[in-house]
Amino acid sequence: MVIINIPRGTQDIMPEESRKWQYIEDELRNISQNFCYSEIRTPIFESTDLFARGVGDTTDIVQKEMYTFFDKSNRSLTLRPEGTAGVVRSYIENKLFAESIKPQKLFYIGPMFRYERKQKGRYRQFVQYGVEVIGEESPRIDAEVVSLAYNIYKSFGINNIKVNINSLGNPNERQEYNDALVKHFQPRINEFCDDCKNRLHKNPMRILDCKVDAHHELMSTAPKLLDFLGEESKAYFNEVLKHLDNLNVNYEVDSNLVRGLDYYTHTAFEIMIDNPEVELKTLCGGGRYNGLVELLGGPTGEKGIGFALSIERLLLALENENIKLPIDDSIDIFVVSMGDRAGEFSVKLTNNLRLNNFKVQNDYFDKKMKAQLKLADRYNSKYTIIIGDTELTENNVIVKDMSNFTQETVNIDNVLKYFEEKIGGK
Ligand code: ATP
Ligand code: MG
Repeated sequence: MVIINIPRGTQDIMPEESRKWQYIEDELRNISQNFCYSEIRTPIFESTDLFARGVGDTTDIVQKEMYTFFDKSNRSLTLRPEGTAGVVRSYIENKLFAESIKPQKLFYIGPMFRYERKQKGRYRQFVQYGVEVIGEESPRIDAEVVSLAYNIYKSFGINNIKVNINSLGNPNERQEYNDALVKHFQPRINEFCDDCKNRLHKNPMRILDCKVDAHHELMSTAPKLLDFLGEESKAYFNEVLKHLDNLNVNYEVDSNLVRGLDYYTHTAFEIMIDNPEVELKTLCGGGRYNGLVELLGGPTGEKGIGFALSIERLLLALENENIKLPIDDSIDIFVVSMGDRAGEFSVKLTNNLRLNNFKVQNDYFDKKMKAQLKLADRYNSKYTIIIGDTELTENNVIVKDMSNFTQETVNIDNVLKYFEEKIGGK
């Protein structure tokens, strides 16, 4: 029989690894709550049109990376390659713009799908956490979003990071800038890759984002977007930076930073691993997208900002800094039983303790005492309860504290109370 393997670019997260994922996801939910963001869950597939319009026809995502299929009714659907388009669609469809709290502060965690070349930290199914703040605009909001992303890494102990930040201005300023870029690149566009030749007229700013031609001399001499910003955009950007200074965020203005997505305006940022030896440095990307709500059919004037990071790259950053997550893989109690009556009773006691919120495992097979104790060890149990037929007749069990190997006899009626006192009421 031929063995069927996992699809390329995907991974099985095995129990030891999934503990890390759970820990990270719990932390992300926790910090989101502290910043007063609420979770939104949108479908894993959406109409293909949503991404074509919302992410942008000229982006790599839409042109090369989407998993698109037709369902049995011949609708074109796409596995979501990113989270923002779905969240904004939902914001409009569920009329969140009419809520009394504005802006709406949302976060999501879930799998995204892109047909990409597999490499370390780059998968075809990966999990993104992201936030979106939609409705109103303020430099304080931009600073909050950037500092939230930054502090997520800090809270895991990842210190070797840097925020690269830029302002993309408003659509008019971008247009002038794009015109200047066309002038700059056109005379020598033959020296660039085919993608860049296409980008020249469709979306010249994205030439600066090209990975193939990143070191071409025209890249460093290209006009700088910041020189095209008007007074208002400049003032907005400076205000954002002032707040970031106040919040002690380690940032650097990077005038060549343009995001791959078309709907970004004003603040754009990335968080990078600050280590020249690491190849895949980008951990997180985000920015303001004031045009998106309207582009997707929502009311005018609804402005938004957000970011997305992947848990795969967060794990890479942890690895890079040799950080071990404080994961407790112990259980509270292992129940050892010797004899038929004791075995039967152990099933009941285990169940009772579990229903009272203790982590408990017992032996299923009436193994020898030594084998059961070995299993208790494998489970890394804090306590072992030992039940023998003799103790049972006296309505007692023996409780062993595995941290110091002391043991005492406890009346069966007091077992629950005993553990509530020892391990803490849960
Ligand atoms: P890259 O330049 O690395 O392809 P991107 O611009 O496509 O990134 P975004 O769409 O901004 O990335 O997604 C936000 C974050 O999601 C990235 O900064 C990265 O950490 C992560 N990410 C993107 N693609 C993948 C992937 N295929 N596998 C794992 N993580 C990813
Ligand atoms: Mg990409």
